[in-house]
Amino acid sequence: MTKRVLRFAPSPTGYLHVGNIRTALFNYLEAKRVGAEFILRLDDTDQERSSQNFIDQIKRDLEWLGISWDRIEQQSLRMDRYWEVLTKLKDQNVVYECFETALELDLKRKKQQNQGLPPVYDRAALELSIEEKNVLRNKTDSHWRFLLSGETVTWKDKIVGEITVRTTSVSDPVLVKGNGQFLYTLASVIDDIDFGITDVVRGIDHLTNTAVQIEILKKLASPLPVFGHHSLIVDRCGENFSKRTGSLSIKSLKESGIEPGAIISKLVYLGTGDGVDVKNNIDELTPNFELGKFSTAPVRFDKEFLETLSRKLLSMTDINKVSDYLETIGVPDEIKEDFWIMAKDNINTKEDLADIWHLCKEGAKDPIIAPEDKQFIEVAISLIGPYPRENDSWQKLTTELNRLTGRTGKNLFMPLRNFLTGKSDGPDMKKLFPLIQKIQRYRSS
Ligand code: GLU
Repeated sequence: MTKRVLRFAPSPTGYLHVGNIRTALFNYLEAKRVGAEFILRLDDTDQERSSQNFIDQIKRDLEWLGISWDRIEQQSLRMDRYWEVLTKLKDQNVVYECFETALELDLKRKKQQNQGLPPVYDRAALELSIEEKNVLRNKTDSHWRFLLSGETVTWKDKIVGEITVRTTSVSDPVLVKGNGQFLYTLASVIDDIDFGITDVVRGIDHLTNTAVQIEILKKLASPLPVFGHHSLIVDRCGENFSKRTGSLSIKSLKESGIEPGAIISKLVYLGTGDGVDVKNNIDELTPNFELGKFSTAPVRFDKEFLETLSRKLLSMTDINKVSDYLETIGVPDEIKEDFWIMAKDNINTKEDLADIWHLCKEGAKDPIIAPEDKQFIEVAISLIGPYPRENDSWQKLTTELNRLTGRTGKNLFMPLRNFLTGKSDGPDMKKLFPLIQKIQRYRSS
């Protein structure tokens, strides 16, 4: 049996966002499921738009999410190989040299649009004589297009099912630009052949590319990989995600304190109809993964989903996993566990822990005292002893206050919470109160 090899192939021209990660996960989890090799391929032939900064960030983001790769490949390091294959295609007369400038091509497209014709390249360059080409070569850089067969390309897609694309409705793709830049269309095919890629899983926006690439693969006498095209993620308004979707870049989600487990869990269940079984560890998601489960319709994605899951994950997190973080915000060892048990159900992100710890250490920044509660709070202060407190200090305080003031229920608890924390909601006071070290003294005005 041939060894299976999959790849995730981002272009380092921007930050990865949730849409890219969905593709990465599909490939990574499928590779894990079948014991295949998983390659991270950097599609960086566009030297102007690609940068080392984006490459570094892509690696950091993937590592943070737990997506690891067996091998890394970089297209910009393979240019000689691409020229070699282009020569092969030239020898077969399936590529042709073109000289139109971007402006000329644009004018052609506009003219076709005005005439109600599809904007397909008219193959004018095929009509040029050798002499005409020689003249043009002296004037301008030439680019190379692949000559599509005009036949119908069909394949059995692992996600979408049977697909048919008529290549007459597609322009002959440019493979190399005038400045010598290889375009993804050819570079990707060459890489897929050379690296023995057996499965290509990518967004449904690549369907036409796939048809074109199947034609190129055939010209290069290569076996075809299996293709799977997943649906795209859309935002609240039904718009596709683009690299400009800044707030859903992995970098910014990380910065806003979203847990990586929330992101990968959500993306693995999105579009399956199954409820999210949130997991911290990517490898726990593998057993349930099945490409055939995913709907082919676009799937909606909202940051709020992640916040909810992130909260849930945090509340399930073991103290050992947050111990270092608690250390960095200054929680002493001996109360770490009590602090975590008290706080874990009341945080959106780990960063919220710092505020809760500040409250424990320094007391409420702005205690709230309604005029009608002033006297009640004075009585409470007189009863609150110095820190450290017993575990049942909250019950003792509230029982005593009830006895002295006759207050019960909300009337008893709310003014105390408002005064002690400066907020009307938050962690369970029974667990929080024993950890509050300072009580802001109430000064009557
Ligand atoms: N660089 C391409 C992209 O990000 C890769 C597509 C593919 O997987 O072939 O869309």
